Order: sequence, then C-alpha cells, then structure tokens
Amino acid sequence: MNTLFKNITSVVPDGAGGFKTIKGDVCVSGELISGVGRVPEGFAADRTIDGAGKLLIPGLINAHTHVYMTVFRNYADDLDFTDWLFGRILPIEDKLVYDDYYWATKLGYMEMLATGTTCSLDMNISINAAPNAQQESGIRAVLSRGLTGGADDPDGGERRLREALEEIETWKGAKGLSFMLAPHAPYTCDPGYLREVAAAADKAALPMNIHLSESLDELKTIREKYGMSPPEYLDSVGVLRRDTVCAHCVHLSESDVALMAARGVSVASNPVSNLKLGNGTANVPAMLKAGINVAIGTDGTASNNTLNMIREMSFMSLLHKGAHGDASLVSAQETFRMATAGGAKALGLEGVTGEIREGLQADLVVLDLDKPWLRPHNDLIASLCYSMNGSEVELTMVAGKVLYEKGEFLTIDAEETVRRVEASCDRLGTRR
Ligand SMILES: [Zn+2]
Repeated sequence: MNTLFKNITSVVPDGAGGFKTIKGDVCVSGELISGVGRVPEGFAADRTIDGAGKLLIPGLINAHTHVYMTVFRNYADDLDFTDWLFGRILPIEDKLVYDDYYWATKLGYMEMLATGTTCSLDMNISINAAPNAQQESGIRAVLSRGLTGGADDPDGGERRLREALEEIETWKGAKGLSFMLAPHAPYTCDPGYLREVAAAADKAALPMNIHLSESLDELKTIREKYGMSPPEYLDSVGVLRRDTVCAHCVHLSESDVALMAARGVSVASNPVSNLKLGNGTANVPAMLKAGINVAIGTDGTASNNTLNMIREMSFMSLLHKGAHGDASLVSAQETFRMATAGGAKALGLEGVTGEIREGLQADLVVLDLDKPWLRPHNDLIASLCYSMNGSEVELTMVAGKVLYEKGEFLTIDAEETVRRVEASCDRLGTRR
C-alpha cells in the first residue's frame, strides 16, 4: 500500500537541531517514508490524501505510561502519592484478570491513536495481554513488565522476572514490538534484586526503564535505608545506563543531574502526573542544560487522567516558564523534540521512528488546521504546544497503515472495547 500526502505542510528537522515546516508531497511506500518534498521515481500511489489545510507530524511518542490503567481512570483522584499508590491502586490491581488488562490496553490504544500517539513505553503487570492488544491494534509499542522483588519476597521477584523473560521470548520478532526490563522503583526493589535484573538485562541485551525520584517519601526512604539519593542507589547497582529510561525524576540534586548526564540515561518527564499527585515539578531545564535526553510521558490514566500527548506537550511547555519565572525556558521547539525524536531515542528507536525523514517508518499523524483556535497560521510548531488540544487529529498511521481516521478505529472494535472496560469496572466496583 502506497500513500501520497499531496502538497501537505510537514514538520521536518531543520538540519540545525530544530524543526521547520515545509510544504510539498510526502510519499509512503509500504511501511516506509519514501519521499519528503519529492516523489521518488516509479512511485505509484494507491491512495492520495489532499494536504490542503492539514499538518503532517511524526507520530508522538509517549515515553512513560501504564496503558492498562485506563480501567482506573477517575477512580483514585485527589489523593497524595503514597495514599494513591498503596491505599487505592496496588490493592485493586490484585483483582485484575487477563481480560481487564487486555481490554483496558485496547482502550488506551484507542485514546492514543485518536490524539496522535503512535508509540509508547508501557510498564505493565500482565503477561501477554499487552502484546496481544498491540499486535491486533497495529500500534507501535515498547512493553515491559513491572518488576518488584527483594529479600522479603524472593520467590515473587524471581517469578516476575522469569515471566517477563518468557513473555519477551514468546513475542520475539513480533511486528512493531520491542521490550525492556522494568524494575519498578528504588523503593520496591532491593539492591540484590536490582543487580539481578541488571544482569538479566545484560544477558538478554535488553534496555531498562524504572520510576525514579518521583516523591519526597521515596527520597527519605532510600536515604534512610542506603544513605544515598535514589539515582546514586541505582548507579551503585548498575541500573543507570545509556539505554535506561528513568521516569519522573522530580527530585534531583545538582549532583544527581550530573551523574545521570554522565551515565547517559534518558529521562521521561510526566508533568501532569507529577502535578496531580502533588509530587512537584521536575527540573527539566537543568536536565536539558546538562545534555540529558528528555522525553515526555503521560504516566497512567489513574494519575493524569488522559494519554493525550498534545495536552502533555502543552503542560511541558508552560510549566517550567512559570516554575522558574523565565518565559524562554522549554521552547515549543524543545517540547516538540521531546515528544518525537527525544522519545524515539529514549525507546531505542532512533532512526526507526520519531521524524519525518526518508527511510524511517511511516508513523504519521495528520492534523486539521482549519479550526478557529489555530488561526492565523503564524507558527505551527508553537501551535502544537500552545493552541492544540488533540481534537485536531484526523488520521493516524503506523508503519504505513492507517489505524485511525475521522473518528473511526480501523483495527479496534471500539464499541466492544468500551463495553468490556465498563464491565471490568462493574466487576471491580470502581464506580462512585
Ligand atoms: Zn509510572
């Protein structure tokens, strides 16, 4: 299937580290972008999409989420982090069964596709539910089973790691799917367990992702137990690596930032989740200044409560200006990079997705520019961060295949998905 986006405005790299818009044809041959601003020789389109009044962007990349948590949307609000996690979320997670995970993940994929996200790094706790949902929906994903373990639960930790490795083996080579190992957090994994997971990551050549320095409680706990900051603790057990993605990183000292920059980790910053759970504001400007690759995540819908990356981009752009009293911080250009190429780098998908460039996977989103709140068209990259809300998404394509168009999901039975997730909520008793 070849697609021609005819004379469309596209956001492309400007060759100097930023982005610019160009107007021209964009061609997709099979799974790949085959022409940007030109039609390659011999290209014959099966479908032509008129680009008039549209903007083409690379699919957005959600670098930290828990997709199955759509089932908990608006179930545990207005609670502080510790009460939220230990009082509400962890107890009800014990009641989830395969079908709950599977349908809630599909609902999450519907939301992502409808708001322009084509790829996510998902920390989940099911086995095979997320890969099945991902394969059927056709969205791109990096999946990881959250791992907790230590001396107080040696068998549980071993079992979870074994199940994660078995799941990875089962789905080896599956289209659009890759995996990481995901030790859950410094406060749910002891040093022995973290070393073991890091050794398993070495052996299987897998990247890792982990929650880090999310709350002040975490800082206190880790300082009391190990006499270190959470990043120092992870570094002492070999978890801070070039291919590790650290989510949140709200509370970092200057030396923590320097350590993480030196180790080359990526950070997935989740501004809305951090605000909603009262955890604070990550110092993204300091991370960017130190040269850390920063990506953007929404976290799960129990703490956001959406998977809408366009909304998240808006918060990312606005938050740091207010927090630091400096309107020049975290520009629209920087935010756009974090939501696209920065996410791809964090997820090990650099050169695969995250840019409109010939040879990359055709993970593309068409936005309708004919909205009153987007007029006039002065700076469309600024518009993405400051004016859009996600409702402008008209078409979402992953690997050259249209998965969402004008309200229709082409690979997901939307009606059944919603019905099944509502049925899960009835069973779990999450309604107020
Ligand atoms: Zn999380």
